[in-house]
Order: sequence, then structure tokens, then C-alpha cells
Amino acid sequence: MTNIVLASNNKKKIAELQTLLAKISEGLVNVQSLRDIGFTDDIIEDGTTFEENSLIKAGTPAKLGHIGIADDSGLAVDFLNGAPGIYSARYSGEGATDETNRAKLLCELDGIPAEQRTAHFVCTAALVLPENSGFTIPEEWRISPELSAASGIPQERAMVVRGECSGRILTEEHGEGGFGYDSLFYYENYQQTFAEISGEDKNKVSHRGNAMREFTRRLAVIFSK
Ligand code: IMP
Repeated sequence: MTNIVLASNNKKKIAELQTLLAKISEGLVNVQSLRDIGFTDDIIEDGTTFEENSLIKAGTPAKLGHIGIADDSGLAVDFLNGAPGIYSARYSGEGATDETNRAKLLCELDGIPAEQRTAHFVCTAALVLPENSGFTIPEEWRISPELSAASGIPQERAMVVRGECSGRILTEEHGEGGFGYDSLFYYENYQQTFAEISGEDKNKVSHRGNAMREFTRRLAVIFSK
């Protein structure tokens, strides 16, 4: 079994990924946390895109000789030229919470009509192999030369998958479930916000579900060799 390190200490994220991977190929990889490899520093996410930030995170264990994976996600609102984007978690500044972030978003969109409140969630998932890992990322899955230059990671050692989900930002919150911007994100096909539907239904169509399905499918190919 191959050990891979998810660049996070979030136990929920690690368990979720392990379950997803087990569904595809039981016993192929074991998902570890940063703590498991003794890494306790903060990772500075100073990339300019979701892709770059997930590569920075996944590249951290890879620099220490481990196979690294990581995700990054957020909300992009068209009227706000893609904001909050990579700053989604800290949109309302120091001490930001999901609640203060939603309040700021509603304020920024105050008076803007429904047809101009379109938005999409984005999730990127990155894999970075350490030097001489013995595994190969198929050419068509490798990162672009531009992303390689921006991240400083050789193309043949990295892959990023992007998932998106389109919706619209309501003028008030609906639903109690979910987290982050879910209660403001109206998903047309369900005629409900992401906070009104089950986690299972959200996963079928969400940015994270879309990215993770493709990402885990590819991991199963890469690590079955
Ligand atoms: P991260 O990828 O864990 O850093 O998440 C970044 C931020 O984006 C979160 O704190 C949320 O504000 C927002 N976000 C990402 N995915 C979702 C989602 O599925 N629902 C609601 N908010 C999300």
C-alpha cells in the first residue's frame, strides 16, 4: 500500500478522502495527515489562483520526500469579478467567520438584481510527487508549463484537477445545513440552496464532488502501477 499525505490536519477531510479512495480501489493507498509525518508548521498559501494554492500545499510533503495531495476551494461571484475567490475563507478580514463572510457578500451585492448575481464554486485538487518516487503521471494529466513556472514544480511531478458548480447568490439565507456560503448559493436544478439539500445530494453536483471524483479516479490509475 502506498502512503500519501493530505496537506491538512482536518480529520474530516482525511476520512472523507480515504472513504472515496477505498470505494475506487480498496487498499491501494493510505491517506496520512501532516501531523503523521511530523510537520507542524503553517503552510503559507501565497498563490494567485486555486491551482497554485493547492500545489503549494501538496508540494510541502513532497519536498520532504512524501507523496503530497491537497485541495483548495472557494466561491467566485461574476459581478465581483471573481471575488471572494481564493480569499473566500477570510473575505471579511481578520477574525472572519462563515457568518461574517456571508454578511459581507450580501452587502457587496446589495441592490444587484438576480440575473447579475451568478456565481460558481471552485475546487482544485493537486498531487505532487517527490523526486524519484517511482510513479508516473500520464502526460495528458500533468500541469501546464505556466503552472509549473508559477509553482516551481516540474510538470512531470504534478497534476491538478478542477471542479466547478454554477449557481446564484440569493438576497437572504435559506437553509440550516452545509457551511461557508452554502445558505446563499442557490442551485437551479434542485431549486434550493446548498444548505437546504443533503450532503449526499450536494456531493453529486458540487465543485468538490466533481473534482474529487476525477481526482480519485486518476490516483487509482497512477498508484496501481
Ligand atoms: P478551503 O478550501 O477549506 O480553504 O475553503 C475555502 C472557503 O471557501 C471556505 O471557508 C468557504 O468559505 C468557501 N467554500 C468552499 N467550498 C464551499 C462549499 O462547498 N460550500 C460553501 N462554502 C464553501
